[in-house]
Amino acid sequence: MKRLALTVAPTACEAPTSFLSRLAARNLSPDIVTFAKDVGLDIGAIICGDDREIHSLCRVAGCSPLSFKRTTVVRTSARRYSIGNEEIYSEVISRSTIRYCPSCLREELQRASNVWEIVQPLHWQFLPVRYCTRHGARLLSHSFPVGGRSAYDFTEFVRDRRAELASFQFQSDGMADRFDNYLTDRAYGRQAANWCDRLSISPLVKACEAFGVLMQYGPKVRRFNLSAEQRRDAMEVGFTALEGGSEGIIATLDRFRMSQRTPGGRQPHPQLGTVQALLGSDRKNRPDLDPVRNVVRQHLLDNYPFKAARW
Ligand SMILES: [Zn+2]
Repeated sequence: MKRLALTVAPTACEAPTSFLSRLAARNLSPDIVTFAKDVGLDIGAIICGDDREIHSLCRVAGCSPLSFKRTTVVRTSARRYSIGNEEIYSEVISRSTIRYCPSCLREELQRASNVWEIVQPLHWQFLPVRYCTRHGARLLSHSFPVGGRSAYDFTEFVRDRRAELASFQFQSDGMADRFDNYLTDRAYGRQAANWCDRLSISPLVKACEAFGVLMQYGPKVRRFNLSAEQRRDAMEVGFTALEGGSEGIIATLDRFRMSQRTPGGRQPHPQLGTVQALLGSDRKNRPDLDPVRNVVRQHLLDNYPFKAARW
């Protein structure tokens, strides 16, 4: 496998698929499938994060084999991935769409002389990241047929929509919240120290959602009763509770407990709705939620007259 004469420099925020896409365009290939075939790379293996194939990609591009150490999305099972030290479930990362900030792309198209200079930052593919932290623009999403390779061909996507993207008129309908900021930074391991760091991203997202739904909608509402937008709003509420660590979680549960007191002052049996559903069911009794589970368990033992439950 020969090193290519025409290459691009990898960046710290892109996955190997973004790099492959740019490299294909740099070599005037129509798409990543054609390019991978021409240079003898197994595109399916690169998409799945295969270490050897990514080393081969780095070899043909003449870059360090460690270029994508932190940003490779490795498929570990049918519904799970890992990125660096993070475990990511399929409901948290988009694999059949390209998500993007239209304002970032418009700026990039004005700046870049060539489309292959425009990088697809990894955090755009994190589904709970709703707004761009630089522009306050809602991330847009373009779907592709499942099973195809176009969702991994970011440069082709930009090239084919260059005129449309370059003239995009941004109208704000919201702004990045603190969870957007945290997840965007965490995608690259550059977040400020936070109690939430002790949870991997997927369990963190689930825990934030569970706490937020409980606090905003009460113990009877379940996540499937809510829209995706409502669930994402709830995540911000839950994130505020969780980032306070044990004290923040207990203060949140105390507030909730007091709001549930009956008129006679009797403290009812704990009904933690979505939090209980997440932490207590056998199916989801996963150790990756233990940091939260341990705090909630202590809160229950301290406040309710019942024997230690198995969770
Ligand atoms: Zn942006």
